[in-house]
Amino acid sequence: MKTIYLDNNATSPIAPEVREAMLPYLGELYGNPSSMHTFGGQVAEAVDTARQQLADLLGADPEEIIFTSCGSESDNSAIWSAVQSQPEKRHLITTRVEHPAILNVMQYWERQGYHVTYLGVDSKGRLNLDEYAAALTPDTALATVMFANNETGNVHPIRRMAEMAKERGVLFHTDAVQAVGKEPIDLRAMPVDMLSLSGHKLHTPKGIGALYVRRGVRFRPFLRGGHQERGRRAGTENVPYIVGLGVAAQLAADHIQEERVAVAALRDRLERGVTAGVPDSIVNGDTEHRLPNTTNIAFKNVEGEAILLMLDRLGICASSGSACTSGSLEPSHVLRAMGVPFNYAHGSIRLSLSRYNTQEEVDFVVQHFPEVIRTLRAISPFKD
Ligand code: PLP
Repeated sequence: MKTIYLDNNATSPIAPEVREAMLPYLGELYGNPSSMHTFGGQVAEAVDTARQQLADLLGADPEEIIFTSCGSESDNSAIWSAVQSQPEKRHLITTRVEHPAILNVMQYWERQGYHVTYLGVDSKGRLNLDEYAAALTPDTALATVMFANNETGNVHPIRRMAEMAKERGVLFHTDAVQAVGKEPIDLRAMPVDMLSLSGHKLHTPKGIGALYVRRGVRFRPFLRGGHQERGRRAGTENVPYIVGLGVAAQLAADHIQEERVAVAALRDRLERGVTAGVPDSIVNGDTEHRLPNTTNIAFKNVEGEAILLMLDRLGICASSGSACTSGSLEPSHVLRAMGVPFNYAHGSIRLSLSRYNTQEEVDFVVQHFPEVIRTLRAISPFKD
Protein backbone atom coordinates (compact mmCIF):
# COMPACT_ATOMS: atom_id res chain seq x y z
CA MET A 1 0.00 0.00 0.00
CA LYS A 2 1.26 3.42 -0.92
CA THR A 3 1.56 6.01 1.83
CA ILE A 4 -0.20 9.30 1.22
CA TYR A 5 1.52 11.71 3.54
CA LEU A 6 -0.73 14.59 4.58
CA ASP A 7 0.96 15.37 7.89
CA ASN A 8 3.63 17.83 6.80
CA ASN A 9 3.01 20.17 9.75
CA ALA A 10 4.15 17.33 12.02
CA THR A 11 7.27 16.71 9.98
CA SER A 12 8.14 16.79 6.30
CA PRO A 13 9.98 14.48 3.90
CA ILE A 14 13.68 15.16 3.49
CA ALA A 15 14.35 16.82 0.15
CA PRO A 16 16.70 14.71 -2.01
CA GLU A 17 18.84 17.83 -2.62
CA VAL A 18 19.17 18.28 1.14
CA ARG A 19 20.22 14.68 1.70
CA GLU A 20 22.74 14.85 -1.15
CA ALA A 21 24.30 18.04 0.21
CA MET A 22 24.60 16.55 3.69
CA LEU A 23 26.32 13.31 2.71
CA PRO A 24 29.94 14.54 2.43
CA TYR A 25 29.62 15.93 5.97
CA LEU A 26 28.55 12.51 7.22
CA GLY A 27 31.58 11.02 5.45
CA GLU A 28 34.93 12.46 4.58
CA LEU A 29 34.25 16.05 5.71
CA TYR A 30 33.92 15.40 9.42
CA GLY A 31 36.12 18.25 10.70
CA ASN A 32 35.28 20.63 13.51
CA PRO A 33 34.54 24.12 12.19
CA SER A 34 36.38 25.66 15.16
CA SER A 35 39.68 23.90 14.30
CA MET A 36 42.56 26.01 13.02
CA HIS A 37 43.60 23.55 10.28
CA THR A 38 42.44 23.62 6.67
CA PHE A 39 40.42 20.42 7.18
CA GLY A 40 38.25 22.16 9.79
CA GLY A 41 38.27 25.36 7.76
CA GLN A 42 36.52 23.66 4.85
CA VAL A 43 33.74 22.69 7.16
CA ALA A 44 33.56 26.18 8.67
CA GLU A 45 33.04 27.50 5.15
CA ALA A 46 30.11 25.16 4.62
CA VAL A 47 28.54 26.44 7.85
CA ASP A 48 29.05 30.02 6.65
CA THR A 49 27.37 29.22 3.34
CA ALA A 50 24.38 27.68 5.10
CA ARG A 51 24.09 30.69 7.39
CA GLN A 52 24.04 32.95 4.35
CA GLN A 53 21.41 30.79 2.60
CA LEU A 54 19.14 30.88 5.63
CA ALA A 55 19.69 34.62 6.15
CA ASP A 56 18.77 35.24 2.50
CA LEU A 57 15.49 33.36 2.88
CA LEU A 58 14.54 35.60 5.83
CA GLY A 59 15.92 38.93 4.68
CA ALA A 60 18.44 38.83 7.52
CA ASP A 61 22.19 39.16 7.93
CA PRO A 62 24.17 35.97 8.53
CA GLU A 63 25.38 37.29 11.90
CA GLU A 64 21.75 37.43 13.01
CA ILE A 65 21.31 33.65 12.64
CA ILE A 66 22.02 31.25 15.52
CA PHE A 67 21.82 27.55 14.70
CA THR A 68 20.04 25.48 17.36
CA SER A 69 18.86 21.88 17.66
CA CYS A 70 15.15 22.46 16.98
CA GLY A 71 12.25 24.87 17.08
CA SER A 72 11.66 24.15 20.75
CA GLU A 73 15.21 25.15 21.66
CA SER A 74 14.85 28.34 19.63
CA ASP A 75 11.61 29.21 21.45
CA ASN A 76 13.08 28.45 24.87
CA SER A 77 16.19 30.49 24.05
CA ALA A 78 14.23 33.52 22.87
CA ILE A 79 12.10 33.66 26.01
CA TRP A 80 15.08 32.95 28.25
CA SER A 81 17.06 35.76 26.67
CA ALA A 82 14.22 38.28 26.93
CA VAL A 83 13.74 37.47 30.61
CA GLN A 84 17.42 37.36 31.55
CA SER A 85 18.39 40.51 29.70
CA GLN A 86 15.63 42.61 31.31
CA PRO A 87 15.46 41.42 34.93
CA GLU A 88 13.44 44.48 35.96
CA LYS A 89 10.49 43.48 33.73
CA ARG A 90 8.08 40.83 35.03
CA HIS A 91 5.37 40.52 32.41
CA LEU A 92 5.12 38.35 29.27
CA ILE A 93 2.53 38.24 26.50
CA THR A 94 1.61 35.26 24.37
CA THR A 95 -1.52 33.67 22.89
CA ARG A 96 -3.75 30.79 23.88
CA VAL A 97 -3.08 29.03 20.58
CA GLU A 98 0.73 28.70 20.71
CA HIS A 99 2.57 25.41 20.44
CA PRO A 100 3.56 23.75 23.75
CA ALA A 101 7.14 24.85 22.99
CA ILE A 102 5.92 28.32 24.00
CA LEU A 103 2.98 27.56 26.31
CA ASN A 104 4.85 25.20 28.62
CA VAL A 105 7.76 27.62 28.87
CA MET A 106 5.34 30.40 29.78
CA GLN A 107 3.91 28.23 32.53
CA TYR A 108 7.44 27.71 33.81
CA TRP A 109 8.02 31.46 33.99
CA GLU A 110 4.67 31.90 35.72
CA ARG A 111 5.91 29.53 38.40
CA GLN A 112 8.99 31.78 38.72
CA GLY A 113 6.68 34.68 39.57
CA TYR A 114 6.14 36.21 36.12
CA HIS A 115 2.75 37.49 35.07
CA VAL A 116 1.68 36.14 31.67
CA THR A 117 -1.11 37.50 29.47
CA TYR A 118 -2.60 34.83 27.19
CA LEU A 119 -4.36 36.56 24.30
CA GLY A 120 -7.61 34.91 23.24
CA VAL A 121 -8.86 34.28 19.72
CA ASP A 122 -12.27 34.48 18.06
CA SER A 123 -14.16 31.58 16.50
CA LYS A 124 -11.91 31.71 13.44
CA GLY A 125 -8.73 31.76 15.54
CA ARG A 126 -8.04 35.47 14.98
CA LEU A 127 -6.35 37.62 17.59
CA ASN A 128 -7.84 40.89 18.81
CA LEU A 129 -5.29 43.67 18.34
CA ASP A 130 -7.06 45.97 20.84
CA GLU A 131 -6.62 43.32 23.51
CA TYR A 132 -2.98 43.04 22.48
CA ALA A 133 -2.44 46.82 22.55
CA ALA A 134 -3.89 46.98 26.06
CA ALA A 135 -1.59 44.19 27.24
CA LEU A 136 1.66 45.90 26.16
CA THR A 137 3.06 47.75 29.17
CA PRO A 138 6.42 49.15 30.30
CA ASP A 139 6.73 46.02 32.47
CA THR A 140 6.45 43.66 29.45
CA ALA A 141 9.71 41.81 28.80
CA LEU A 142 8.48 40.02 25.67
CA ALA A 143 5.52 39.54 23.39
CA THR A 144 5.68 36.21 21.58
CA VAL A 145 3.10 35.36 18.93
CA MET A 146 3.28 32.48 16.48
CA PHE A 147 3.54 33.44 12.81
CA ALA A 148 1.24 30.63 11.73
CA ASN A 149 -0.71 28.12 13.74
CA ASN A 150 0.34 24.49 13.37
CA GLU A 151 -3.20 23.14 13.66
CA THR A 152 -5.33 25.51 11.60
CA GLY A 153 -2.63 27.17 9.50
CA ASN A 154 -3.94 30.61 10.58
CA VAL A 155 -1.41 33.32 9.79
CA HIS A 156 -1.33 36.11 12.37
CA PRO A 157 -0.68 39.81 11.56
CA ILE A 158 2.92 39.59 12.71
CA ARG A 159 4.21 42.69 10.99
CA ARG A 160 1.55 44.87 12.67
CA MET A 161 2.03 43.18 16.03
CA ALA A 162 5.80 43.63 15.87
CA GLU A 163 5.32 47.30 14.99
CA MET A 164 2.96 47.78 17.94
CA ALA A 165 5.49 46.16 20.28
CA LYS A 166 8.26 48.34 18.91
CA GLU A 167 6.16 51.51 19.43
CA ARG A 168 5.85 50.53 23.12
CA GLY A 169 9.50 49.52 23.49
CA VAL A 170 8.61 45.82 23.97
CA LEU A 171 10.73 43.00 22.53
CA PHE A 172 8.87 40.89 19.98
CA HIS A 173 9.46 37.22 19.16
CA THR A 174 7.62 35.04 16.68
CA ASP A 175 7.55 31.26 16.50
CA ALA A 176 7.70 30.91 12.73
CA VAL A 177 8.30 27.15 12.76
CA GLN A 178 5.26 26.54 10.53
CA ALA A 179 5.67 29.64 8.39
CA VAL A 180 9.26 29.58 7.18
CA GLY A 181 9.38 28.29 3.64
CA LYS A 182 5.59 28.50 3.28
CA GLU A 183 5.03 32.24 3.81
CA PRO A 184 7.30 34.92 2.34
CA ILE A 185 9.13 36.52 5.29
CA ASP A 186 11.25 39.63 4.92
CA LEU A 187 12.72 40.67 8.25
CA ARG A 188 13.95 43.93 6.74
CA ALA A 189 10.29 44.94 6.42
CA MET A 190 9.01 43.96 9.87
CA PRO A 191 10.54 44.89 13.23
CA VAL A 192 10.57 41.36 14.65
CA ASP A 193 13.38 41.08 17.23
CA MET A 194 13.62 37.28 17.34
CA LEU A 195 12.24 34.48 15.16
CA SER A 196 12.31 30.70 15.65
CA LEU A 197 12.36 28.10 12.91
CA SER A 198 12.82 24.37 12.59
CA GLY A 199 14.43 22.42 9.77
CA HIS A 200 12.22 19.35 9.81
CA LYS A 201 9.15 21.33 8.80
CA LEU A 202 11.16 22.53 5.82
CA HIS A 203 12.42 19.23 4.40
CA THR A 204 15.56 18.64 6.49
CA PRO A 205 16.00 15.78 8.96
CA LYS A 206 14.87 16.36 12.54
CA GLY A 207 17.31 17.92 14.96
CA ILE A 208 18.21 21.28 13.47
CA GLY A 209 16.68 24.70 14.00
CA ALA A 210 17.64 28.33 14.13
CA LEU A 211 16.93 31.48 16.04
CA TYR A 212 17.12 34.85 14.33
CA VAL A 213 18.17 37.64 16.68
CA ARG A 214 18.10 41.15 15.24
CA ARG A 215 21.39 43.00 15.44
CA GLY A 216 21.43 45.23 18.49
CA VAL A 217 19.01 43.12 20.53
CA ARG A 218 20.61 42.14 23.83
CA PHE A 219 21.02 38.37 23.96
CA ARG A 220 21.64 36.03 26.88
CA PRO A 221 22.51 32.46 25.87
CA PHE A 222 20.36 29.57 26.98
CA LEU A 223 23.18 27.04 26.42
CA ARG A 224 26.48 28.20 27.89
CA GLY A 225 29.89 26.69 27.19
CA GLY A 226 32.15 27.10 24.18
CA HIS A 227 32.26 30.18 22.00
CA GLN A 228 30.32 28.70 19.04
CA GLU A 229 27.69 30.83 17.32
CA ARG A 230 29.55 33.94 18.56
CA GLY A 231 29.05 32.89 22.16
CA ARG A 232 25.27 32.75 21.78
CA ARG A 233 24.80 28.96 21.63
CA ALA A 234 27.47 26.63 22.94
CA GLY A 235 28.09 23.20 21.47
CA THR A 236 30.07 22.00 18.46
CA GLU A 237 28.00 22.77 15.38
CA ASN A 238 25.84 20.03 13.87
CA VAL A 239 27.55 20.55 10.52
CA PRO A 240 25.72 18.05 8.26
CA TYR A 241 22.33 19.27 9.45
CA ILE A 242 23.32 22.91 9.21
CA VAL A 243 24.41 22.30 5.62
CA GLY A 244 21.05 20.57 5.01
CA LEU A 245 19.14 23.50 6.49
CA GLY A 246 21.05 25.88 4.24
CA VAL A 247 20.07 23.91 1.14
CA ALA A 248 16.45 23.61 2.32
CA ALA A 249 16.37 27.38 2.78
CA GLN A 250 17.83 27.91 -0.68
CA LEU A 251 15.22 25.58 -2.22
CA ALA A 252 12.44 27.41 -0.38
CA ALA A 253 13.74 30.80 -1.47
CA ASP A 254 14.02 29.71 -5.11
CA HIS A 255 10.57 28.13 -5.35
CA ILE A 256 8.35 29.71 -2.71
CA GLN A 257 6.08 31.66 -5.06
CA GLU A 258 5.20 28.85 -7.47
CA GLU A 259 5.04 26.32 -4.66
CA ARG A 260 2.56 28.41 -2.69
CA VAL A 261 0.25 28.51 -5.68
CA ALA A 262 0.63 24.81 -6.50
CA VAL A 263 0.26 23.55 -2.93
CA ALA A 264 -2.70 25.86 -2.22
CA ALA A 265 -4.44 24.57 -5.36
CA LEU A 266 -4.03 20.98 -4.15
CA ARG A 267 -5.13 21.90 -0.62
CA ASP A 268 -8.22 23.68 -1.96
CA ARG A 269 -9.10 20.73 -4.18
CA LEU A 270 -8.79 18.45 -1.17
CA GLU A 271 -10.79 20.72 1.12
CA ARG A 272 -13.55 21.36 -1.40
CA GLY A 273 -13.75 17.70 -2.33
CA VAL A 274 -13.90 16.42 1.24
CA THR A 275 -16.41 18.99 2.53
CA ALA A 276 -18.62 18.56 -0.54
CA GLY A 277 -18.65 14.78 -0.06
CA VAL A 278 -19.37 14.77 3.68
CA PRO A 279 -22.46 16.42 5.20
CA ASP A 280 -21.96 18.38 8.43
CA SER A 281 -18.29 19.09 7.82
CA ILE A 282 -16.82 22.57 8.27
CA VAL A 283 -13.39 24.14 7.89
CA ASN A 284 -11.85 25.38 11.14
CA GLY A 285 -9.90 28.64 11.13
CA ASP A 286 -9.45 31.77 9.09
CA THR A 287 -9.50 30.64 5.47
CA GLU A 288 -8.50 34.12 4.26
CA HIS A 289 -5.25 34.24 6.25
CA ARG A 290 -3.90 30.74 6.17
CA LEU A 291 -0.82 28.78 5.24
CA PRO A 292 -1.19 27.44 1.69
CA ASN A 293 -0.65 23.83 2.78
CA THR A 294 -3.01 23.39 5.73
CA THR A 295 -6.66 22.58 6.19
CA ASN A 296 -8.37 21.65 9.42
CA ILE A 297 -11.78 20.08 8.89
CA ALA A 298 -14.35 19.31 11.57
CA PHE A 299 -16.75 16.41 11.09
CA LYS A 300 -19.79 16.56 13.34
CA ASN A 301 -20.42 13.67 15.74
CA VAL A 302 -17.34 11.59 14.94
CA GLU A 303 -14.27 10.81 17.01
CA GLY A 304 -11.14 12.31 15.41
CA GLU A 305 -8.89 9.50 16.56
CA ALA A 306 -11.20 6.97 14.89
CA ILE A 307 -11.00 8.93 11.63
CA LEU A 308 -7.22 8.83 11.86
CA LEU A 309 -7.21 5.08 12.36
CA MET A 310 -9.46 4.46 9.39
CA LEU A 311 -7.42 6.80 7.20
CA ASP A 312 -4.30 5.00 8.37
CA ARG A 313 -5.73 1.72 7.10
CA LEU A 314 -6.01 3.35 3.69
CA GLY A 315 -2.39 4.51 3.91
CA ILE A 316 -3.37 8.12 4.55
CA CYS A 317 -1.36 9.96 7.22
CA ALA A 318 -3.20 12.83 8.87
CA SER A 319 -3.36 14.31 12.34
CA SER A 320 -5.90 15.42 14.88
CA GLY A 321 -4.62 18.63 16.41
CA SER A 322 -0.86 18.76 16.83
CA ALA A 323 1.24 15.60 16.89
CA CYS A 324 2.28 16.46 20.42
CA THR A 325 -1.30 16.30 21.73
CA SER A 326 -2.63 13.41 19.69
CA GLY A 327 -3.16 10.30 21.75
CA SER A 328 -5.09 12.38 24.25
CA LEU A 329 -8.86 12.46 23.88
CA GLU A 330 -9.17 16.10 24.96
CA PRO A 331 -10.02 18.35 22.02
CA SER A 332 -7.00 20.45 21.10
CA HIS A 333 -6.32 23.62 23.09
CA VAL A 334 -6.41 25.58 19.83
CA LEU A 335 -9.93 24.47 18.91
CA ARG A 336 -11.07 24.97 22.49
CA ALA A 337 -9.67 28.53 22.46
CA MET A 338 -11.68 29.12 19.26
CA GLY A 339 -14.82 27.84 20.95
CA VAL A 340 -15.42 25.16 18.31
CA PRO A 341 -18.49 23.23 19.59
CA PHE A 342 -17.59 20.00 21.35
CA ASN A 343 -19.26 17.68 18.80
CA TYR A 344 -17.23 19.31 16.00
CA ALA A 345 -13.95 19.83 17.91
CA HIS A 346 -13.77 16.12 18.69
CA GLY A 347 -13.98 15.21 15.03
CA SER A 348 -11.42 17.69 13.71
CA ILE A 349 -8.66 16.52 11.41
CA ARG A 350 -5.63 18.39 10.16
CA LEU A 351 -4.46 17.65 6.63
CA SER A 352 -1.16 19.35 5.75
CA LEU A 353 0.46 19.08 2.34
CA SER A 354 3.82 19.74 0.75
CA ARG A 355 5.33 20.06 -2.69
CA TYR A 356 5.66 16.28 -2.77
CA ASN A 357 1.91 15.62 -2.82
CA THR A 358 0.09 14.96 -6.08
CA GLN A 359 -3.38 15.43 -7.49
CA GLU A 360 -3.84 11.65 -7.66
CA GLU A 361 -3.24 11.44 -3.92
CA VAL A 362 -5.70 14.22 -3.22
CA ASP A 363 -8.34 12.59 -5.41
CA PHE A 364 -7.86 9.25 -3.66
CA VAL A 365 -8.46 10.91 -0.28
CA VAL A 366 -11.51 12.81 -1.53
CA GLN A 367 -12.94 9.59 -2.94
CA HIS A 368 -12.56 7.65 0.31
CA PHE A 369 -13.51 10.26 2.90
CA PRO A 370 -17.34 9.99 2.66
CA GLU A 371 -17.25 6.25 3.32
CA VAL A 372 -14.91 6.67 6.30
CA ILE A 373 -17.18 9.24 7.94
CA ARG A 374 -20.38 7.34 7.09
CA THR A 375 -19.00 4.19 8.70
CA LEU A 376 -17.92 6.02 11.83
CA ARG A 377 -21.13 8.01 12.19
CA ALA A 378 -23.12 4.78 12.07
CA ILE A 379 -21.33 3.55 15.21
CA SER A 380 -20.62 6.92 16.86
CA PRO A 381 -21.72 7.40 20.49
CA PHE A 382 -22.21 11.12 19.71
CA LYS A 383 -25.70 11.96 18.47
CA ASP A 384 -27.57 15.24 18.07
N1 PLP B 1 6.43 25.61 17.19
C1 PLP B 1 5.49 25.18 16.34
C2 PLP B 1 4.45 26.13 15.85
C3 PLP B 1 5.49 23.86 15.91
O1 PLP B 1 4.55 23.43 15.06
C4 PLP B 1 6.50 22.99 16.40
C5 PLP B 1 6.51 21.55 16.01
O2 PLP B 1 5.47 20.96 15.74
C6 PLP B 1 7.47 23.50 17.27
C7 PLP B 1 7.41 24.81 17.64
C8 PLP B 1 8.57 22.64 17.80
O3 PLP B 1 9.54 22.42 16.82
P1 PLP B 1 10.61 21.23 17.00
O4 PLP B 1 9.87 19.97 16.76
O5 PLP B 1 11.65 21.50 15.96
O6 PLP B 1 11.14 21.36 18.38
